[in-house]
Amino acid sequence: MPAGFPDFRLGTVLATSFTGTLSERHGDPVERIPTPQRLVDWLEVNGLAVDSCTPAQLDLARELREAIHAAATAAAIGDALPTSAVRIINDRSIHGRAAAILTSEGHRRWRLSSPSCVEDALGVIAADAIDIISGERDGKLALCGSPTCRAAFFDTSQSRTRKWCDMNTCGNRQKKARFNATHRRR
Ligand SMILES: [Zn+2]
Repeated sequence: MPAGFPDFRLGTVLATSFTGTLSERHGDPVERIPTPQRLVDWLEVNGLAVDSCTPAQLDLARELREAIHAAATAAAIGDALPTSAVRIINDRSIHGRAAAILTSEGHRRWRLSSPSCVEDALGVIAADAIDIISGERDGKLALCGSPTCRAAFFDTSQSRTRKWCDMNTCGNRQKKARFNATHRRR
């Protein structure tokens, strides 16, 4: 990972890992894909390798990211989905031409129509967002309990009682804050 860049938070759900590339949305936001190259890096880590990315493609990616964030947040709290967010997600899904490939080892790979087609990768992310927002996949959208985060995440725990978008960051911080508050009171 190049120095000077914040690490990616890798989750198991593609769409919400993607919205997590802007973290601490209600605190001091951290942009984890500040340059086209960082989007290339993120896509590679997430099985959607491209060989290049233009500034315009990065803009498309960020627009999709914010649309997913808005729609997933609305879905998590039971609000109507914002029309513009729905349109952006659908546009990206329609314009993606990635194919799912089954490897001989039984794994799924994504094959993009061309190695420079960031739009194909965004189509895969948009389709993943549609899956979780529409309830097609087993799980529940919820908002992170950290007041500086409030990220929408997809809870696949059996009890559906997960509180934080990410145990290693938000979860740990909240636990520490509670621990310190308890000790101050004593
Ligand atoms: Zn969080």
